[in-house]
Amino acid sequence: MDTAEIRRRFVSHFEGQGHRAVPSASLLLDDPNLLFVNAGMVPFKPYFLGQEAPPYPRAVSVQKCVRTPDIEDVGKTTRHGTFFEMCGNFSFGDYFKEGAIELAWDLVTKPVADGGWGLEESRLWPSILQGDDEALRLWMKVTGLPAERIVKLGPKENYWSMGVPGPGGPCSEILYDRGPEYGPDGDFATTTRTSMPTEIEDRYLEIWNLVFMQEELSAVRSKEDFDIVGPLPKKNIDTGMGLERVAFLMQGVENMYEIDVMYPVIERAEQLSGRRYGAAHEDDVRLRVVADHVRSSMMLIGDGVTPGNDGRGYVLRRLLRRAVRSMRLLGYEDPALPELLPVSRDRMAETYTELHRDWERISTVAYAEEEAFRATLRAGTQIFDLATTAVKRGGGGQLSGDKAFALHDTYGFPIDLTLEMAAEQGLSVDEAGFRRLMTEQRDRAKADARAKKGQHVDARAYREVADALGRPVEFTGYQEVVSEG
Ligand code: ATP
Ligand code: MG
Ligand code: MG
Ligand code: MG
Repeated sequence: MDTAEIRRRFVSHFEGQGHRAVPSASLLLDDPNLLFVNAGMVPFKPYFLGQEAPPYPRAVSVQKCVRTPDIEDVGKTTRHGTFFEMCGNFSFGDYFKEGAIELAWDLVTKPVADGGWGLEESRLWPSILQGDDEALRLWMKVTGLPAERIVKLGPKENYWSMGVPGPGGPCSEILYDRGPEYGPDGDFATTTRTSMPTEIEDRYLEIWNLVFMQEELSAVRSKEDFDIVGPLPKKNIDTGMGLERVAFLMQGVENMYEIDVMYPVIERAEQLSGRRYGAAHEDDVRLRVVADHVRSSMMLIGDGVTPGNDGRGYVLRRLLRRAVRSMRLLGYEDPALPELLPVSRDRMAETYTELHRDWERISTVAYAEEEAFRATLRAGTQIFDLATTAVKRGGGGQLSGDKAFALHDTYGFPIDLTLEMAAEQGLSVDEAGFRRLMTEQRDRAKADARAKKGQHVDARAYREVADALGRPVEFTGYQEVVSEG
């Protein structure tokens, strides 16, 4: 079943049960804690927080999401994209646990001929928060599964909050067992865990998270440590289902990067580079990174981000540069984005038709950034190579802070680039040394500015501090606050 059909079935299943279909919000929806929308519930926050009256009691959406903290997992796990689409159904004080469990289970297990996804029941493992006896009882009632087929996990995995005082509650997830080829047995009947061990997460694939927003929290010190004030006056449901994850299961491929809307980019990158997907693990990871980053960059530019040195712009810059560099590491040195971006557009525009309308703008921004990056690499790569060769020849394992600073200051190499390129050479970087030099340089610049102004108070310095506090600045650009379940 293609991704578009899976999406259609999700929306119509919930529309058929009285949910209002709400279009995806922009990735750039204003939220003080987020660089980008990272979950389907974000646009509905005012309803969940009781700040606004919900105009409908039930909603369904397919929300564009970007999760920059997942960037390092891309291509290495089967299931993490920097961009992905989260299907979700929401109840604002309407149905609660039982309704949410019934609706999800029904869609997942209903035969394909009847409008469902027809996933085999024997492969599905619902999970609950340890001690959520109500959820345990309801899962057993709705699915007919025995208690030992329900996975019990700790709050780290299955308690949801926004990390601040406000609503919170236990979660249930639906995991899909891909089989013993993909990892060891979970021993769920005998083991109770705080979290899922990494080595089984690609076997027991988490496809759907159901959040039961039921209580008011007064303090959240960590995912496991919070104070519950009491029950919420109106209980809510917030769910999130990874469209690409279900698509990869239903399309019989190995991971999310191989689904119908992403794989054509891998194929184009194979043609350009002459490398074959499936031949070598390292190349495969790079090809998957290319497919992911090309798509997420395109969607970000589509929503109005332009490359820059901090915040959202820096995330975009990093994604574009990583895509370009991955192509170089695959052996393709010509401009890559003009070859790859249109391939991604053609698949994604089936759903996001505005990509065609805005193509001139999107492609201009992306291609210009690649050109600028190529110039940076031309200038700095030789210096970088000389430096790393010298370190290795001297028997060392670390590039000095001085060198990293020079690469940044003179050639415009962001520290991430230096870190990544050094890691490819088996070297670490003295990051602390680099940051010390950066701070010294910043302090010098401020002192100079003060001196020039003849000891007058320089408002700019204050503004810089305010900026630094008020929004993410360079190097912390992707440590965004997330409330993932
Ligand atoms: P995981 O544990 O696999 O990282 P998660 O618990 O962080 O997932 P949730 O925050 O519960 O994910 O988000 C709801 C759903 O969105 C997940 O069940 C999954 O199907 C999907 N999802 C989450 N992160 C990603 C991602 N980076 N790429 C693709 N799909 C994702
Ligand atoms: Mg996650
Ligand atoms: Mg989850
Ligand atoms: Mg999880």
